Amino acid sequence: MQTTPLTEQEIQQLRAETKGTSNKIHFNNAGCSMATDVVVGTVVNYLNEEASFGGYETEAKYSEQLDKTYDSIARLINAEKNEVAIVENASTAWALAFNGIDFKPGDEIITCEMEYVTNLIGLVHVQKTQGVKVILIPNDEHGDFSLQALEDAISPQTKLIAVTHIPSSAGGMIPIVEIGKIARKHNVLYLVDACQSAGHVPLDVKEIGCDMLSVTGRKYLRAPRGTGFLFVRKPVQDKLKLIFMDGFSTEWISETDYKMRADARRFEMYEKNRALMLGLGKAIDYALNIGVDRIWLRIQYLANILRQQLNQIEGITVHDFGSEQCGIVTFTVTGIESGEVKAKLAQDNINVSVGLAKSTLFYMNKNHLANVVRASVHYYNTDEEITMLCTKLKDMLVN
Ligand SMILES: *Cc1c(COP(=O)(O)O)cnc(C)c1O
Repeated sequence: MQTTPLTEQEIQQLRAETKGTSNKIHFNNAGCSMATDVVVGTVVNYLNEEASFGGYETEAKYSEQLDKTYDSIARLINAEKNEVAIVENASTAWALAFNGIDFKPGDEIITCEMEYVTNLIGLVHVQKTQGVKVILIPNDEHGDFSLQALEDAISPQTKLIAVTHIPSSAGGMIPIVEIGKIARKHNVLYLVDACQSAGHVPLDVKEIGCDMLSVTGRKYLRAPRGTGFLFVRKPVQDKLKLIFMDGFSTEWISETDYKMRADARRFEMYEKNRALMLGLGKAIDYALNIGVDRIWLRIQYLANILRQQLNQIEGITVHDFGSEQCGIVTFTVTGIESGEVKAKLAQDNINVSVGLAKSTLFYMNKNHLANVVRASVHYYNTDEEITMLCTKLKDMLVN
């Protein structure tokens, strides 16, 4: 079915529902998007009810709605509800999955050049402490992930393929569906970091064929900070060790034995921020109501015009790689440090961020980049805002 673009009227309506869009030109959506008024209202209202009526009492009142957040997540990524755990960020989600794997000396993990810092540290840690070998697949000469190199790297020792779908400081994308086919063919565990992808690009865990997938709330999903979730395919849940256990993730079967919960909520603990959980659910419903396919179309449109305009400015180099590109646009400005570019734009009410080498170490080192300016667009950004950004950058270069 053809995806219908967001109309001008819809965009104006969506902007009207987000207070922040009238205050700032916000191109830091890969850092944290502007939350919608309804999400903020949901969280604040819940906290007020807790304060007025009691935490447990408010939870009881909202129990059905709290539970619905799991349904919303399941719909967003085409998972089953019992395959979803809600946690406070993507790093926790990833670490719960990764550290649950029973690595043995000699095991091999295959990863990509775009892997995120949290994940790389985790990989290097098991390499240092458990005699596991980490194999990195560099992007090919076009800047694309090489499926052939992945095929060639797989051996009987391959225990895990772990990749980041959309890197934090580059505008490219890793072909997670094709990688999934290879992972399935060789029966290798497959962990996807979809932190930047959720709410940005349509995600379908059945199509991806991943065993585990980690997401944060605050980025393209526009959920409150301090939210995230982990997907673990049902048959894989029992293969992972539990790092943390409490009376919620496990239950007694005798005074000397316990069993784990039967669903992915075993990766959660009892105590959590319920106001934020409701906010997360609201944010996901908001995205689903618009349609993630329509969001993706709009983001691609905006990112394309931003790249085109940047490419026309002498003194600006766009660094995004590969044949598939997303809403994260990265560039450097000749003669002006990325941090200074960010500070100057902030004076004009424009938010961008700086992508640091440490976040995507292999890619940045390979390309000799210490940092880049990152202007990440979301569907609520406009053509006018992009023109404004580029005008300010031109001014900066002549002054
Ligand atoms: C931001 C980011 C993370 C970490 O998310 P947190 O919610 O901050 O833990 C992981 N992976 C990628 C690709 C990211 O951009």
